[in-house]
Amino acid sequence: MSAVRYPWPSGKTSAAVLSFDFDAESGFLFREPEKARRSLGDLEERRFGPRVGVDRILRLLDRLKLRATFFIPGWTVEHHFEPCRRIRDAGHEIGAHGNVHEALGFLDEAQEDRVMREQLEILAGRLGVRPAGYRSPSWDVNVWTPDLLKRHGFLYDSSLMGNDVPYDVPTSQGPLTEVPVQWLLDDAPLFRHVYGSTNAIADPGRVLQMWSKEFSAMHPENGCFVLTCHPFVSGRASRIALLEDLVTFMRRTRGVWFTTCEEVARWHASGPAPASGRPAATRPPSASRARSGAPGPRRR
Ligand SMILES: [Zn+2]
Repeated sequence: MSAVRYPWPSGKTSAAVLSFDFDAESGFLFREPEKARRSLGDLEERRFGPRVGVDRILRLLDRLKLRATFFIPGWTVEHHFEPCRRIRDAGHEIGAHGNVHEALGFLDEAQEDRVMREQLEILAGRLGVRPAGYRSPSWDVNVWTPDLLKRHGFLYDSSLMGNDVPYDVPTSQGPLTEVPVQWLLDDAPLFRHVYGSTNAIADPGRVLQMWSKEFSAMHPENGCFVLTCHPFVSGRASRIALLEDLVTFMRRTRGVWFTTCEEVARWHASGPAPASGRPAATRPPSASRARSGAPGPRRR
């Protein structure tokens, strides 16, 4: 008997999301503020994102008729407003991604709370966006972060690797939905060149093979394939072609729900009944209790 590991809407077998972290210079400014004052080279490498990469990605998504999720730091919204506006106006989901891409490992809880407020104010004030989701800069998450996200009204986080289907992260105010990520599906470790280090820039053909294989293996596992790309990395011409080839390949498989992180999170939060009739193995006990009544939205 084949058991459905995770139930997707309309009988779909798996889900797939293209997500883009629109960092621009923000991560460099936070991590290396001294160098950021003089290194035009490093700044310009990252400015390729707002100057070229984002629009190439938007044209690609338009060609593919796909909605994607963009996680945008407050700093990027303030300093590169026009590409952010074009992302919003094209109808893509916008999630929060720090203010100046603050890696949470450097922040205590009070600082993290302040940064959380700042990023939400910028997204609301400049873009008119109230994000449902959050992705932590560099996928660095503190033990108190899920509680903080709940307090600030987030529906979901997308920074953790504890499963490959959506799951609940417990907080003192009930579960927070996690739309999980993984390093294998991140463009940065494959394509990002760090001067002086030994990492070789990956051949797009090899990356297409890696990502295709991961997708093909995750699909029968009812997985949630979340690809994370950066406009200054994947906005390069041959990598845009790679993304197009990847989606074309994935579309040959039947039963894939191409969607956004928010839609995945809303589906998960609505408490889908396990299709196999047995309790889903991914649910912690608290969530199972919350789901014992009629299916339907249980928060927000
Ligand atoms: Zn980032």
